[in-house]
Amino acid sequence: DQIEAPRRIRALHEDVVNKIAAGEIIVAPVHALKELIENAVDAGSTSLEILVKDGGLKLLQITDNGCGINKDDMAILCERFTTSKLKAFEDLTSIGTYGFRGEALASISHIAHLTVTTKTADSSCAWKAQYAGGKLAPAKPGQSADPKACAGRQGTQITVEDLFYNVPTRRRAFRSASEEYAKIADQVGRYAVHCKGVAFQCKKHGDAGAGIAVPATATVRDRIRIVHNSAIANELIEFELLNAQYGFKTEGLVSNANYSGKRTALLLFINHRSVESITIKPRVDVNVHPTKREVNFLNEDEIIELICGDIRTRLGKVDTSRTFMTQS
Ligand code: ADP
Ligand code: MG
Repeated sequence: DQIEAPRRIRALHEDVVNKIAAGEIIVAPVHALKELIENAVDAGSTSLEILVKDGGLKLLQITDNGCGINKDDMAILCERFTTSKLKAFEDLTSIGTYGFRGEALASISHIAHLTVTTKTADSSCAWKAQYAGGKLAPAKPGQSADPKACAGRQGTQITVEDLFYNVPTRRRAFRSASEEYAKIADQVGRYAVHCKGVAFQCKKHGDAGAGIAVPATATVRDRIRIVHNSAIANELIEFELLNAQYGFKTEGLVSNANYSGKRTALLLFINHRSVESITIKPRVDVNVHPTKREVNFLNEDEIIELICGDIRTRLGKVDTSRTFMTQS
């Protein structure tokens, strides 16, 4: 038997590495949008307008009224690991903003056509730039790639077009635009409920309906009324728990016994990030995985039990007062 000679090991081309990394962070349009929403909120915006075409595969556009981006930073904006939010590794323990590792815009620029228009308060005009593969790119071949001056209001508009145009296998995996839009609407709805003081608008391109529309002044309960419905908004009780032993603070709303819905909805935010699993955690290890959708945590059982206990007590009080009222 003849043993085959080992094949030589070679380094992958940087572009290939970046495309692979991008594909791990952004699997569906909703993941790109989540990063863009978090960036807009990080920038101190009080208004977010989202426009979606073909489930986000053709177009994802988010317009905010936040602090904007300095013109001088536009050249490195979409490089990997460029961020205004993290300077030292130690900052990871106290980071207050959503994103922090400077990978989102870089990733998007590797797998979509990305355009950024932005204006800071002290700039007399807005600046517009296109990106490809992490770098400034000319809008048309032969043109300069430098940002161009244009008219615009303070804030930032990010336009993502033709997502996965250069990742055909991923692109082919999408069955329906409406399925992708449903995921987007769900995610926008979560942030629209959570982000007090921020107005949200989300529209499907060409749709006559309002989509999601939440005014900045809406209370959390009103936000739930708008995004979900009155039936649930009217039957929510508040809970709040502060625990020194495990060092956590939690607050939320939970439906009482008067409400019975067909399906259970759980909107869970840890350190202001929408997360998927049933994890209520004091110190989230936000650095676990680039997607940050899964979270690890300490004392999970104890903390969940404490929160459940608190909710049970509060629900018990509501039921007692109801019984009391019917008897009187
Ligand atoms: P990160 O959020 O982890 O810093 P991103 O790639 O998401 O990385 O963004 C890179 C940087 O671009 C941010 O740190 C921020 O300075 C800037 N930025 C991105 N989006 C916005 C926005 N909507 N408004 C203002 N600045 C933004
Ligand atoms: Mg970010």
